[in-house]
Amino acid sequence: MRSPPRLFLLRSRAPWVCKTCRANFSSTIARTAKDKKIYLPDAPARTRFAPSPTGYLHLGSLRTALFNYLLAKRTGGQFLLRIEDTDQKRTVPDAEKRLYEDLQWAGLQWDEGPVVGGPYGPYRQSERTSLYAAEAQNLIKSGHAYRCFCSPERLDTLARHRNELGLPAGYDGTCTGLSAVESEERAAKAETHVVRLRVTEPYPMFNDLVFGKTGQNKAAQGGVQKSENMNTYVDPILLKSDGHPTYHLANVVDDHYMKITHVIRGTEWMSSTPMHVALYKAFQWQPPKFGHVTLLVDENGQKLSKRNADIDIASYRNQGVLPDTLVNFSALLGWSHTHKSDIMTMKEIEERFNLKLTKGNVTVAFEKMWYLQKAHAQRSAKEGSSTFDNIVDQITELAEKTYPAEQLTSILKSRTLNLYIASILTHTARTYTTPAAFLSQNAAFFTPTIARPPYTPTTQSSASQPQSSNNNIPLPTLHTAAAALSLVPPTHWTATMHTQNINAFTSSSLPTDQDQGLKQSTTTFKKELYNYLRWALVGGSHGPGIPATMGILGREECVRRFGEARGLTGGEEWVEGKGVKGRGKIGGTRVEKKKEEGEGDEWMGSLAPKKKEKV
Ligand code: GLU
Repeated sequence: MRSPPRLFLLRSRAPWVCKTCRANFSSTIARTAKDKKIYLPDAPARTRFAPSPTGYLHLGSLRTALFNYLLAKRTGGQFLLRIEDTDQKRTVPDAEKRLYEDLQWAGLQWDEGPVVGGPYGPYRQSERTSLYAAEAQNLIKSGHAYRCFCSPERLDTLARHRNELGLPAGYDGTCTGLSAVESEERAAKAETHVVRLRVTEPYPMFNDLVFGKTGQNKAAQGGVQKSENMNTYVDPILLKSDGHPTYHLANVVDDHYMKITHVIRGTEWMSSTPMHVALYKAFQWQPPKFGHVTLLVDENGQKLSKRNADIDIASYRNQGVLPDTLVNFSALLGWSHTHKSDIMTMKEIEERFNLKLTKGNVTVAFEKMWYLQKAHAQRSAKEGSSTFDNIVDQITELAEKTYPAEQLTSILKSRTLNLYIASILTHTARTYTTPAAFLSQNAAFFTPTIARPPYTPTTQSSASQPQSSNNNIPLPTLHTAAAALSLVPPTHWTATMHTQNINAFTSSSLPTDQDQGLKQSTTTFKKELYNYLRWALVGGSHGPGIPATMGILGREECVRRFGEARGLTGGEEWVEGKGVKGRGKIGGTRVEKKKEEGEGDEWMGSLAPKKKEKV
């Protein structure tokens, strides 16, 4: 038999991969698989965010909502919103509305919940009262709960007495032994009572998704503990005397009926979880999996509070923090990822999220948030995304409030404020933090009267490099350069044209150093020219590069500012029409201006000496 042609042999073989790459590849596969197994459920997760409308969304609760949202999205499950408004007395009137706004602003759209509805509603606990009462009845019937007719006054006195005896808080068990008949009769006569869970054994341990096996502690003792003077029962209240459920009952009943598979919540609820697990057991329901996320603390290890920036989400939003930034920042508060960069959009986080969450408290460092803000602004400028438009709109709104309309019109001429701001932002996005900071950094773009400090040549501004007259570029040379750059007509007034002209001018018109009669280097000249132009145009403030600044300000404004600057540095104040114009030799470069502005749109070309065309 003939052997196959060599070409075929080559094609049929697997591509050659070096040993190291092969090892890396297989360990990545193994790691991904392992991560997935340990840190991600293998079926779609149904998660929920269950805020009480007793306050607004803050950084900690946003992070809880986000982790639940991400777990659902990462596994192809559903994210629910449930309003836990059982504590009507503490309900803040507009909290619910604000919660919706803030979650939606951050991009955490819920799949089921208030407003959008869903198959397991209603999603507000105040509308589910009868369900909790019915479930409490079921527990009474099965013997896992009992009615307690002790009056609040009696319980109060009891608590004080126990305290005096040095006994732990608890119930003395007066109503534990009431017969079913008596209990029914007294309830039928509408005698005020609560319903308590009958705890007969220690609360069970549970496997926390973050902390592992946990739960056994003192509070987990169940049944009666006898002491010389008084018995102690844990028996927590499930239904209050007004017929409303406690948080514990409502939370468990709802998570069950809403088919929640995973609960991610703050560690402040961790001590209640064993009791919740006991409650599930009493109902004979399968509990969801629980994962508790640790506290957010400031740099001194103090719990975040209103004083140290755990302010509500709206205040970040009102400052101008981008949703992308806040989501990215919150996601990094306790989640350790293996992606090479911390800068991620919501979509990227959704694709990478897992439950590799820290067990230690999380320090919130706001410098990181501003770093992410700059990164997201820069990315939006590069990609031209809707985030960029969003930033521009915010700055525009603030600029309109900050500057009088006539002032803006005098700068904008026929341009729109929106586009004008967009052109500045395009060049400064990598330093963008907030609209207010943007306007203050770029103030020179919004006012015709710019504050210029006295002009300082670069050679004088550096401490490490003592002033040397050798490096000084004579001011008239700088005036001439600015005048030459002004010759470009509006039709050709672009950053590219200015770059070309600055390069051409600084390489062809080198001034001579007055002391030694030597030509200055192009680098020295260019450095000084940029320094002078920045001072002349924007008072020396940081911002877009000089060619871009000229392009943004427009010819008329630049010419005016150059004239002003010339006057301030010992030259004759140069006003268009009086200064350099027409055909002439400026600083050694031949500059041509064919017509006056407005006479025609022809421009003779850049200041670069024309190359001789080969014929
Ligand atoms: N309503 C509780 C809260 O506001 C929910 C706790 C939980 O997620 O179970 O934190």
